Amino acid sequence: MNKIAVYLNRQISGNAFDKESILEAYSTDRSVLKFMPKIVAFPEKTEDVEKIIKFIDQLAEKDYKIPTGIWGSGLDATGADLTSGLLISTEKMNQIKEIDTHDRLIHIQSGVTLEQLNSALSTHGLCLPINANPKETIGGLIANCPTDTQAAFFGGIMNYIERIEVVLSDGSCIQTVPLKKASLVKKQSQDNLEGKIYREISKLIEENEDLMQKLFITQDLSGYPSVSRCSQDDGKTFDLLPIFYGSQGTLGLITEIILRVEPIPAVPYHIITSSNSLQSIFEILSVAKTLSPVELLLFDSEIFKSAFELGKEPSLIPKKILSNKYIVQATFIPNHFNKTKVKEFYDSLPKSTRVELNDPEEASSFHELSNPLYIYLNKSSKGEHSPIITDVHIPNVELPSLIESLTVLEKKYNVKLNLFGSFATNIYSIRPNIKIETEEGRLFIVEFLRDFNMLLKIHHGHLAGGSPEGRLKALLTNHDLTPEERKIYTSIKNIFDKNNVLSPDIKLNANPKTTSTHFRTKVNKTIQF
Ligand SMILES: Cc1cc2nc3c(=O)[nH]c(=O)nc-3n(C[C@H](O)[C@H](O)[C@H](O)COP(=O)(O)OP(=O)(O)OC[C@H]3O[C@@H](n4cnc5c(N)ncnc54)[C@H](O)[C@@H]3O)c2cc1C
Repeated sequence: MNKIAVYLNRQISGNAFDKESILEAYSTDRSVLKFMPKIVAFPEKTEDVEKIIKFIDQLAEKDYKIPTGIWGSGLDATGADLTSGLLISTEKMNQIKEIDTHDRLIHIQSGVTLEQLNSALSTHGLCLPINANPKETIGGLIANCPTDTQAAFFGGIMNYIERIEVVLSDGSCIQTVPLKKASLVKKQSQDNLEGKIYREISKLIEENEDLMQKLFITQDLSGYPSVSRCSQDDGKTFDLLPIFYGSQGTLGLITEIILRVEPIPAVPYHIITSSNSLQSIFEILSVAKTLSPVELLLFDSEIFKSAFELGKEPSLIPKKILSNKYIVQATFIPNHFNKTKVKEFYDSLPKSTRVELNDPEEASSFHELSNPLYIYLNKSSKGEHSPIITDVHIPNVELPSLIESLTVLEKKYNVKLNLFGSFATNIYSIRPNIKIETEEGRLFIVEFLRDFNMLLKIHHGHLAGGSPEGRLKALLTNHDLTPEERKIYTSIKNIFDKNNVLSPDIKLNANPKTTSTHFRTKVNKTIQF
């Protein structure tokens, strides 16, 4: 066994492995990339993580740098959780430590999954209202900070995190907490990495006030735009927590989390409608958005056709509705504020292309509508619908013209580009079929991403709009950063991780050559979602 793995096994209560089959299992995620780690470590508690990272730091100080990646459940779509060095998985850090039902505050380890958390909370009538894959870890959700389809209504993951515990690049551990001026000064005076971080990050924020205002409203999650949220209440409070949103394991390993949760909301009801006219579907979406929907989704109906071919027809939705080109799903939580207006909206839709599912039983069997997407992404065509264009930001006003422009790319690449996404959050995906096992398929990824990013820019969109850039998208988004943004983001990474060992080759430091030589050459075995 590798000497480092043996050393780690002596030090930690969890385990470290270098067995080929384990390394192979942790070499791919949902992305088109593959990086074979040399060791995979499974810490069980914060002290284990401290010991592992301290050891890595000591080696780095002697100029022996081991790239160290972090793995939640391995569901990342751009390869941000992969490494060719040491991979630290949080899978065994999955304890729910405390559920305070009175204040609705929950204390967990970062490897707890959304499914595990929500199932424990359900017995108390509580939930974390994030519409994501149930296997995603809460640590991964903070580090990736995806804009889920219900984020416009419930606020997304950022709305629920109170405090986090993080192991920094030197192996020391900090807890974030909102600090008033006097407490901040005290922190800044500490002669350690934590003190340095508080001193230098607050100085960066002060010196770049104009840029902070711009980053606060940006729809682009590449880099560390959440730094603009650290200074709160007109500078009266400082909290380090926001900088970790979207940091993708490059600033530290989140070990424990205190989060706030919500009572389980009432059973929602759904309105489904469709049209062949892009203009009228845009008008429908625009009206529905003013009614505070929990979700407001748009689908290209080709997605439904694949499901029909495989024998799955959403029985609750008339065929006439599904035969039109664009399908809209608007989901509402019943309350007296929107009831009349939603009824007016429903009545305004053409009778032949509208259906309302408001009976609780119908509403709960509504998953029939999400099934077609799942089937479309996994249908047995040659190739795979890999997530190369997922979670991109398209401003609503640009949506119709961008959809029209897609036909140019369809012709150029001879692929179907069926768009789906959320009009409420402006986040959309397109999942073309990719023959990853061929050279041509891998070349397509690079060229198509470049062309699509150009199209997005014309329409004022952002490739890393709904989730950060990770490794793959970074190849394009890094060119799109302004010199000012690049400078401040580079400083942030240097302040937190001066030896650049934590996820060193993602985000700002993603390298086109390294990344393009790490495309998978085999179809992913996992189910696409
Ligand atoms: C482009 C893109 C598209 C996406 N599309 C969807 C989608 O359609 N549906 C959906 O449900 N989700 C989607 N996501 C969200 C994403 O799959 C998950 O939010 C995220 O990957 C968390 O899952 P995980 O726990 O498996 O973490 P991983 O995928 O294993 O890790 C995600 C990132 O977080 C870091 N990380 C993980 N745990 C920690 C920790 N404890 N401390 C510090 N860093 C950590 C990793 O290093 C990595 O950079 C998308 C993400 C991206 C980037």
